Amino acid sequence: MSSHPKSLDALEPLFEATSVEEINTPTTPYVRTAACLIIGDEVLNGKTLDTNSNKMAKLCFELGIEMKRTEVIPDDPDTIIESVRRAANEYDWVVTSGGIGPTPDDITYDAIAKAFHSTPLVYNQETLRRMEVSSEIRYGKKDVPENVRLARSRMALFPKEAEVIFPVPAYWVPIVRVHKKVCILPGIPRLFEGLLHGYRPYIALDPAVPRPIRCLIETKIPESGLSPLLTRLTEDGKRDGIRVGSYPKWDAGVHVSLIGTDQSMLDRYAKIVQDETGGELV
Ligand code: AMP
Ligand code: MG
Repeated sequence: MSSHPKSLDALEPLFEATSVEEINTPTTPYVRTAACLIIGDEVLNGKTLDTNSNKMAKLCFELGIEMKRTEVIPDDPDTIIESVRRAANEYDWVVTSGGIGPTPDDITYDAIAKAFHSTPLVYNQETLRRMEVSSEIRYGKKDVPENVRLARSRMALFPKEAEVIFPVPAYWVPIVRVHKKVCILPGIPRLFEGLLHGYRPYIALDPAVPRPIRCLIETKIPESGLSPLLTRLTEDGKRDGIRVGSYPKWDAGVHVSLIGTDQSMLDRYAKIVQDETGGELV
């Protein structure tokens, strides 16, 4: 047997993905706003750089969902409970990252179960089965000590009323959804991103909300010099559906960002910025 386990990605397509129809009904509410909860002491103490919330922000932008908030919180039950309840109250879709491994500091499922009165945790048999199959293929058939098996099976111990969604045919790891809108994802960036993208078809999007388009112009004029122009454009933009932002770069001028949903209006604004700053489209 090879000492290198097979990558999870190499297992595609090993399992059946959960059908979208099983999860969404015609009355499933649209997702217009979202928040991301990054759970992990390791992010707060600087060991790990949070990249997961950025992946989520990019997906939301692409889909026309307004990402309203990212919160980074410690592996602490009371903080998780307070934070996830508040986010679920305010936003249509909440994604959590981290704290669902096999070790004692992995308490996210438990805390979220408590937040939505979905206790006790119960083993999900399909997750246990997929975990077993995946492990045999990746590491070979092995006798696993009972305490290790028990630790591993913690990763299939979910809130009682959770929906268990398998979006990616290669992964035994599901997205566990609670309260119809809180999606619990692992922190490992590759898995987080894989599952998040796999979840796209399960997101009910309002067909009436147009997708945003972003246009970036790089100019060498410092921000203070740009201020009068940007003030004017911000004001006009309220009327024309264009959001204006400016983002200085160290030693590299300023990126002026224009976001809208109408390409011809964006082109007009971009031309004004280019003409008045000598900037170039990025
Ligand atoms: P966890 O799910 O909290 O057990 O984390 C599993 C792994 O993912 C660890 O190696 C973490 O350092 C990493 N990780 C956790 N959260 C994040 C995050 N927000 N961005 C990037 N990596 C993360
Ligand atoms: Mg962690």
